Amino acid sequence: PVRMIGAMADITRRRRAEDERSRLYREAQGAIRLRDEFLSVASHELKTPLTTLQLHLQMLRALATREGSAFTPERARKKLSLAEHQVQRLVTLVNDLLDISRINSGRMEFRFETVDVARLLRELLDRQRSLLRHCGSEVRLQLRGPYTARVDPMRLEQILTNLLSNAAKYGQGKPIDVSIEGDEGEYLVRVRDRGIGIAPEDQERIFERFERAVSERHYGGLGLGLWISRRIAMRFGGTLTVRSRLGEGSTFELRLPRFPSETRPSEPVDEAH
Ligand code: ADP
Repeated sequence: PVRMIGAMADITRRRRAEDERSRLYREAQGAIRLRDEFLSVASHELKTPLTTLQLHLQMLRALATREGSAFTPERARKKLSLAEHQVQRLVTLVNDLLDISRINSGRMEFRFETVDVARLLRELLDRQRSLLRHCGSEVRLQLRGPYTARVDPMRLEQILTNLLSNAAKYGQGKPIDVSIEGDEGEYLVRVRDRGIGIAPEDQERIFERFERAVSERHYGGLGLGLWISRRIAMRFGGTLTVRSRLGEGSTFELRLPRFPSETRPSEPVDEAH
């Protein structure tokens, strides 16, 4: 009987090993499928702005070499600013891709500083105004401030830029409201649009990597921005969430503690993490 039990234990062990092997195989297959899908979407996303950029440059060359009155500084400026817009799209895409691997390998560096979130937001909006106007959205800002917090200003700007450009992209040209509220412990930054909205079943999914809501496939994008933004918010000791109704718009809420526990004011300023 002892030998019997030993043999059965052996069979069970072998079966478990087989189960484990097929689980790993299925996982690997899944990962390969995801990688292939990602490569195809990413190449398409990179190709679109590159092709448009190429077109604008060709037209600019045609304008510049054609005899007579076709070339005017005004027409050239217009083509250049369209080209610049495409370059900006490419830079954002490549930065997002780099951030993904930085986060995955734990190499995303943070430089914590004490900053006024309200001022950062105002300056950001000034810089983005032309882009936002391009989408037809007026941005209304509601803040008194100053709202000082310990954050990495570049990374905070990255979250806010992502939320603002999404609000413009999916906001159907309707007004966007940005506000900050604060109490002793934390700040709440809200970016609200009145655009296409997000279905309840998509509201968590959109924070996952490479995930985009089913309803908006034709807008383009890699579905990386919100995943990265939420990870940055977490490094600040905060959260990034959404409330939304399909067809009515979305409100993204960024909660920021004034002093994340790992960066109490007594710690040296500007240390890199
Ligand atoms: P991208 O916009 O590049 O696809 P994001 O990670 O920024 O990537 O957003 C993921 C998805 O979340 C988008 O594809 C879109 O489906 C949805 N989404 C984000 N912001 C909004 C918004 N303000 N209104 C509606 N849908 C949104």
